[in-house]
Amino acid sequence: MLKFNYHSHSTYCDGKNSLEEMAQSGIEKGLSYFGFSAHSPVPFDNDFGLQYSEIQNYLSETIRLKVKYEDKIKLFTSMEFDYIPKISEDILERAKEYNLEYIISSVHLVNSGNGLWFIDGSKQESYDNGLREYFGGDIRKAVKTFYNQTNEMISNVKPDIIGHFDKVKMHNKDRYFKENDPWYVDLVIQTIEMMKENDVICEINTRGLYKGRSNDYFPQTTWIKELAKRGVRVTISTDSHKEDEVDKLFVECWNDLKVCGHKEVWYFDGQWKSTAL
Ligand SMILES: [Zn+2]
Ligand SMILES: [Zn+2]
Repeated sequence: MLKFNYHSHSTYCDGKNSLEEMAQSGIEKGLSYFGFSAHSPVPFDNDFGLQYSEIQNYLSETIRLKVKYEDKIKLFTSMEFDYIPKISEDILERAKEYNLEYIISSVHLVNSGNGLWFIDGSKQESYDNGLREYFGGDIRKAVKTFYNQTNEMISNVKPDIIGHFDKVKMHNKDRYFKENDPWYVDLVIQTIEMMKENDVICEINTRGLYKGRSNDYFPQTTWIKELAKRGVRVTISTDSHKEDEVDKLFVECWNDLKVCGHKEVWYFDGQWKSTAL
């Protein structure tokens, strides 16, 4: 089994270990390919993203490590970009400027028009407060805005990898909507069709599951099957923020992909390629 992970964080953003510790752990766990994907800088005060003043240090450290460990593991430089309409920078332009080797793009902050709804993180109350404050508690409107923003990201940016595309369900926990509500299913299917149309790779993110924040992957198993049916390409991401997380649930996810009807999984060795599951 080929092992890889292109979605990881470090002390340059909200991770707990240095880039070098993450790379060393990748080697220990037998990964062939490992990508650094710091949360991109965003133009407002925050404690999760790479700071603008640290961009050059981040980039040169990834290059130093790439050379230092080249006979043990193949390392790649990337970022996980936040797509926030009217706020985030031009992702393709930045990726080119920073010489990134692939792009992950995700939605963590939903632009309501009068404030940003934070759907990620460990606190349910920030989800609940944002829903009330920015959408008057209208969950359908809020979730629709999330998926519209995701669709816009897919068609405008066409990133290599779409990060945890149904994360908006994480703090819901069946409280505001059910994941089989027809209006919700319609939104998800539309986004899956959008991924197919734009030929992007959908990550299957294991983090929610190993952190105990979710009882399924992002996206959940129902959608993993739908991705297989519609022929959307997938990769496995651990979204590791600590050294012991670099391959967490990778093997389990590999097997679950097969069970869900996938025949192959995509990996990057300088180019995107598929390998049989
Ligand atoms: Zn993310
Ligand atoms: Zn991440």
